[in-house]
Amino acid sequence: MEKIGKRFQGKVAIVTASTQGIGFSIAERLGLEGASVVISSRKQNNVDEAVEKLKARGIEVLGVVCHVSNAQQRKNLIDKTVQKYGKIDLIVSNAAANPSVDTILESKESVLDKLWEINVKASILLLKDAAPHLQKGSSVVFISSISAYQPPASMAMYGVTKTALLGLTKALAAEMAPNTRVNCVAPGFVPTHFAEFITSNDAVRKAIEEQTLLNRLGTTEDMAAATAFLASDDASYITGETLVVAGGMPSRL
Ligand code: NAP
Repeated sequence: MEKIGKRFQGKVAIVTASTQGIGFSIAERLGLEGASVVISSRKQNNVDEAVEKLKARGIEVLGVVCHVSNAQQRKNLIDKTVQKYGKIDLIVSNAAANPSVDTILESKESVLDKLWEINVKASILLLKDAAPHLQKGSSVVFISSISAYQPPASMAMYGVTKTALLGLTKALAAEMAPNTRVNCVAPGFVPTHFAEFITSNDAVRKAIEEQTLLNRLGTTEDMAAATAFLASDDASYITGETLVVAGGMPSRL
């Protein structure tokens, strides 16, 4: 971390679902590189704690409660950002839900609706609200998953919603060009609260590590580094792409 640059000086970044895990590390990385970061999640106390942690690292940060499927809270997130910082340069859409381990055909309709709503639709609606404030040279990054390429049985429909983000990346890259680049990161397995049901089981954890070429799980910092690259001007000729960050786990040719 000591060697990181300042690629986001003067930039304003919104990261959804960013009070812990991958989202928090992305906010931290963008902030350490000079961005003013707007973090959010469903619970006020989580927002407050994360704001304090980032401030302690010298980061300029605003915290706003935002459940991504709540229209009013999404609007408030954009309004508060623009009121405080006047513009938006970067949006990282990171929120996701994985409410069930049922197979697709056994999933309740309410579960299918929730997966679509949080993992895909909310990202689109947030961008609709943000679009008028996005600057020339702005950048959007979606957080998908290695599961997008080969949805695992225990989280098949979740995987399919992550596949949808790969298509959304392509479609919005075309729609938002040339002023805004749209890219995507597909993380491998990272031991966060979200993945606890997988990575806390020793046998499962070992099996996943063996599927990687690098013999380890990912870290939240690995995902933050890739996201920061795509969001930065270092990637100024890259749009509509998905970067797989999964230690060499099988994804595609
Ligand atoms: P995490 O550590 O469990 O963190 C989840 C964060 O999201 C928390 O800050 C939580 O705070 C917030 N959150 C949850 N639901 C939300 C909602 N509806 N609206 C707004 N905020 C919400 O999760 P993570 O592992 O970092 O996952 C982040 C992203 O990475 C997800 O898109 C996930 O699909 C993707 N991913 C993760 C892995 C992995 O192995 N961990 C692998 C591939 C992809 P509150 O509780 O306060 O809301």
